[in-house]
Amino acid sequence: MPELPEVESLAVFLRERAVGRVIDWAADTAISVLKTYQPSLTALTGQRLSGAGRHGKFLDLVTEPAELHLVIHLARAGWLRWRDSLPPEPPKPGKSPLAFRLRFTDESGFDLTEAGSKKRLAVYLVTDPQQVPGVASLGPDPLADSFSPDVLAGLLAGRRTQIKGVLRDQKIIAGVGNAYSDEVLHAAKMSPFKLASSLTPDEVSALHAAMVGALREAVARSAGLAAGELKAEKKAGLRVHGRAGQPCPVCGDTVREVSFADSALQYCPTCQTGGKPLADRRMSRLLK
Ligand SMILES: [Zn+2]
Repeated sequence: MPELPEVESLAVFLRERAVGRVIDWAADTAISVLKTYQPSLTALTGQRLSGAGRHGKFLDLVTEPAELHLVIHLARAGWLRWRDSLPPEPPKPGKSPLAFRLRFTDESGFDLTEAGSKKRLAVYLVTDPQQVPGVASLGPDPLADSFSPDVLAGLLAGRRTQIKGVLRDQKIIAGVGNAYSDEVLHAAKMSPFKLASSLTPDEVSALHAAMVGALREAVARSAGLAAGELKAEKKAGLRVHGRAGQPCPVCGDTVREVSFADSALQYCPTCQTGGKPLADRRMSRLLK
């Protein structure tokens, strides 16, 4: 799933590659991809791409002279694929992974694809990104200059819930998902099950440094990469997420996995939980 660093890199990629080009047409090719109906996609025809930015995990493409925002959420299995040459006619809706296509007048453009059977990829065409509910409800961005340890302390205060869940809640902090929350907690040497409200000021500072560090490092690693290379780069840069059974790159202990909410999390017992494996509630329930 693309998170803050990958979406940031896609925005940079599109700023370098596509800003200044004129849109020929945009077409949704899968049911329920387009979440808005006014303005319609035909309003994009003849508009020039003037910018590409990010709100949390949402990509925001801006046009001129009409200031329209094409806001894209890639969800769990979606991706953006740059195309140097697209056919002149919009594709017909069908069962392919293709969900949306945008073509510029010079034949280039991009496809949004989504693998798997759960279709969550979402596209919005709005005049203000705040009209997208998921954007309007976002918490602060951890890469913003104003995101200080004090701001983080304020977000965690009084939350008697596990830190892992707090980190990936978009309404609390924007852009961190399942993968980078594992990475941040590993870098901070903190148990994912620790209660957010129980962190000492030193632990908040360590968590803040780990979060900003892990995200900035991931953004820097993927800078200059083409859209097609970002996924492999993300996977190669992760230390514990998706690496259960492999050695921790810091201490050599075996990375473990435990169920969490609707998925699983990975962590290193030596680095994060005093050497003790976390109890898997799902497993112990099954064994009763
Ligand atoms: Zn370790």
